Amino acid sequence: MIGNRQIIDGTAIAAKLRAEVATSAAALREKGIAPCLAVVLVGDDPASAVYVRSKTKAAREANVDVRDHKLPATATQAELMAVVERLNADNEVDGILVQLPLPAGLDSDAVIRAIDPAKDVDGLHPTNLGYLAQGRPVFVPCTPKGCMRLLREVGVELNGARAVVIGRSVLVGKPIAMLLSNANATVTICHSKTDDLPSEVRRAEIIVAAVGRPEMIRGHWITEGSVVLDVGINRTAEGTIVGDVAFTEAVQRARAITPVPKGVGPMTIACLLENTVEAAVRRRGA
Ligand code: NDP
Repeated sequence: MIGNRQIIDGTAIAAKLRAEVATSAAALREKGIAPCLAVVLVGDDPASAVYVRSKTKAAREANVDVRDHKLPATATQAELMAVVERLNADNEVDGILVQLPLPAGLDSDAVIRAIDPAKDVDGLHPTNLGYLAQGRPVFVPCTPKGCMRLLREVGVELNGARAVVIGRSVLVGKPIAMLLSNANATVTICHSKTDDLPSEVRRAEIIVAAVGRPEMIRGHWITEGSVVLDVGINRTAEGTIVGDVAFTEAVQRARAITPVPKGVGPMTIACLLENTVEAAVRRRGA
């Protein structure tokens, strides 16, 4: 806390969620079900390799088994699809995560469509996005799911609240907007063609920034007492990581705000593990 302003501790909330997942996974193991996440990594992009390593570590700590499938950057679409098909057919695999982005020349949409929706723990299969759009979600994309958990932990009233989501990607912006709307917030979705973004932000009590532009959302756009979730991860020329929101300005006005790093970021892997355990429960009838 700074005065009556809360810096939302994503690291602590993610640790709490991972502990909950570990408890659920341990209970499943007692019944002879070992929740298992298969991670498919194609090529040798160093950032992707780092993500996969941290997912693997967090999974093991949460009593979730991990199977790594590494393919060379030269892998063909057919080879990748064959791996996904094998994992779809393997009853011991509960969740399939194909690490994105894929190397150039591979069609990630086709790969996502090939994943069994019952194992789509990233929540990006059109079937799962469709359920979300219908307001009866099954698997929810991990970062948006993490954002909703943060709002719940902070005790934000969503019913009737005015929310603005900046960014409309399938990965982040659109699913967050749907989740907020499903929770009865009144949602405005902004994007690169939005006219007068500062005015849209000023009207909101809940602001979710998912743009990918360093510190684009300025403090004076933010109405006193609002809640700000900053999804952005941007590397500066100096090598530091900053969000999409100018934190030092925004923290003067927001009631609660996520920092970058250690805000939204840690929630993503925790929600991936939660989805994997949910998949195990649904698939194996526990
Ligand atoms: P995308 O590039 O897919 O989408 C960015 C969105 O921002 C688009 O909808 C785009 O609009 C909009 N946009 C771009 N410029 C402006 C502008 N000047 N004004 C308003 N809107 C603008 O990014 P993602 O959704 O995948 O990711 C967004 C950020 O979140 C990135 O920094 C990414 O690294 C981070 N991220 C963080 C995660 C985490 O775990 N914390 C997970 C995933 C992403 P348009 O549609 O018109 O092009």
